[in-house]
This record gives sequence, structure tokens and C-alpha cells, in this order.
Amino acid sequence: MTITRADAVRLDAADPLAGLRDRFDIPEGVVYLDGNSLGAPPRAVAGALAAFADDWRRDLIGAWGSAGWGGLAARLGARVARLVGAAEDEVIVTDTTSGNLFKLLVAACRMRPGRSRVLIEAANFPSDLYVAQGVCELLGLELGYLDEGAPLDETVAVVVHSHVDFRTGEIADMAGLTARAHDVGALMLWDLCHSAGAIPVDLTGAGADLAVGCTYKYLNGGPGSPAYAYVAGRLQDRVRQPITGWGGHARRFAMAREFEPAPGTARLQVSQAPVIGMVALDAALDAFEGVSVEALRDKAASLGELFVALAAERLPALRLVSPRDPAARGSQVSFAHPAAERILAEAAERGVVGDFRPPETMRFGFAPLYVRHVDVYEAVERIAAVVPA
Ligand SMILES: *Cc1c(COP(=O)(O)O)cnc(C)c1O
Repeated sequence: MTITRADAVRLDAADPLAGLRDRFDIPEGVVYLDGNSLGAPPRAVAGALAAFADDWRRDLIGAWGSAGWGGLAARLGARVARLVGAAEDEVIVTDTTSGNLFKLLVAACRMRPGRSRVLIEAANFPSDLYVAQGVCELLGLELGYLDEGAPLDETVAVVVHSHVDFRTGEIADMAGLTARAHDVGALMLWDLCHSAGAIPVDLTGAGADLAVGCTYKYLNGGPGSPAYAYVAGRLQDRVRQPITGWGGHARRFAMAREFEPAPGTARLQVSQAPVIGMVALDAALDAFEGVSVEALRDKAASLGELFVALAAERLPALRLVSPRDPAARGSQVSFAHPAAERILAEAAERGVVGDFRPPETMRFGFAPLYVRHVDVYEAVERIAAVVPA
């Protein structure tokens, strides 16, 4: 049965999240399916940045208190916590994903002295691989690849895994893998870059120990917006991260000679906070106000399903590389085609923005706050016009 534009319009009319698109400013005629790389700007961000400039001009250094800059890292952490199934004081917004991964990996290895190996999946995001390689080199440990048969046994200090695979969108079994790591006494560290803000994440329910994630993808914090780190409450006082800057000191302004870690997740900070980026993120997170994570998931799944069904009808030359089952897939759908790069370039000229991952993967992200079903329909129409016969 052929799917029509009217079907897509009907799905939008029945979509409980349809009104949220007004919280964003998407250029007319553009179908933006790259929110899994860089989220679109929420309208509130520009005003918040103007207000920030005003606070700075008016109150100068006093704005750390008057404008609340000093408390942003913890306050933003609490806001992200709701989206990842953590307690408010288990998440802090600081640094970058890669930087946080480095700090937490070293901390994890220190909590498992005597263990000689770290495990990661070879399919993980390259930066995670590079950081894990660097940590192993630094600490004299061996790195094993879980998806290439490296054993998960009592020699493993920590397992690092992405919740959603960045190429295929496949969702990992968070509770299952965490339990397997714990069975051999290893710690479990999750990367949530491609899940927070798009699909439900339950760090608490899974018993996860540590996690990192970025805020510029589905959380729409803007390019290079600060990342977050999660440490389960039970581990917080044991975490000793290696970059002991004044940002993580218990009494930063005492200007003491010796480092003394701040309580809780505050010790994961290194330096003065990147306030501009945090102000933008704070405003961006308003776009999630009043929205349940389950509703986000349902909308994303509906968009992805429509895309897969339309592609099966109109884009038979593309090979689906994401799981066919929407429950096994995050908020993205990936296809392979030998001419993927050229197809994406030509689609972009027609206002459809997806992204390319070598050698032949095209990724399309369905940010549930602002992508409509008609956008999905429109995207497939325009892509069909550029796929070589
Ligand atoms: C996007 C992404 C990152 C990005 O790391 P940064 O250090 O914040 O640039 C890291 N890991 C994964 C899995 C990602 O998807």
C-alpha cells in the first residue's frame, strides 16, 4: 500500500508533541535530519545569550552570584539527570564527553586496582576508542574489544559501551551488560551521546556505575556545548579523577596548596566553568519542559518507522543498516549505498540534511522535538530524486 503525503499529515495532526516545533527556529524549506550530530537551536537560546551579555556588563564579577553562574554546573546536571534516569546529584555538566570519559576511566581503573584490562566495543565512537587507548597506555593496561570476542572476566576493571551505536542506531542492553560486568566485579561506564533526549535511559534501573554524554546532539545545547558526567551515588566519594584542577577542589577560593576533592560529582570539574555554553544549554533544555521521555521515544519511533516504510517503497537501492525493529533502534535510521556521499550532497542541495559516515553510511536523525512526519515524507521524495537509477 502506497504511503501518501496525506498519511504523513494525519500522523502530524495526531502527534501530541507537534506544538513543540514552535520552540525551535528551523529555516523554511529545510528538512533537518542531522540533530543527532548538532541539534537545531531552540528559540530561547538567543534571548538567553543576550541576557547573559547584559548580566555580565551590569554586574561584572558579581554576576557569578547575581546571575547564578556559580551554580550552573550542578543545576544543569540536575536537569540532565531527569532525562537519563539518575538522581539530581548524580550528574554534573562539565568539560567535553572525551574529557569526562578520560577522567572517569582513570577513576574506574583506580577503583579496581590489580585488574589489567579495559573493555570497549570496536564499533564505539572513535573518540571513545582513542581515549580508552590513551588511558590504557597511561596506566599500563590492556584494551580489549568486546565485539571482537575479548573475554569479560575478572581481569577487567571497567567496561565502556555506547548506549546507542553511532553508526547503526542499535540500542545496547544497558541492564544486561551492566549485570554481566558486575558479575565479574568490573565497573560499567555508559556513553549516552546518542540516547539522552531521544530515548529513555535508566541509569539507576540498570545499576550503572558511571556515564558520560554530550549536550549538542539531541539536547540542542549548541556546537561544543558542555558535556555531562554521571557517577552513581554509592561511588561518589571513592571517585578520584586525575585532572585535579581548582574546579574540583573542595574549597576553590581558599587557594590552599594541596588538592582536596570536592564532595560528590563537583570533584569532576577541572577549571572555571564555560558559562556562555552553559547559559545556552540551560535555555535549550527548556525545550524539554513538560515533555516525558516516553513521549519523545514514541514520537521518534513513529518518525523512524515512517522513514523506513517510505524508503522500502521509494528507495529500494538503499540498504537498511539499522535494526528493523523500532524497539531495538535509537532515534536514527542509517542506510548504506556505494554513492552515499554524493546522494547526501545532492539531497543537501535540495534542503534535506543528513550525514555521511565512511565508507558508505548515510545517517538520518529524527529529533522528536522538531521533526514532523511531513518532513520525513518530504525527505524521502527529495532523496528519491537524487538516488542513481
Ligand atoms: C558525539 C560523541 C562524542 C563527542 O565527544 P566530544 O568529546 O564531546 O566531542 C563522544 N562519544 C560518542 C559516542 C559520541 O557520539
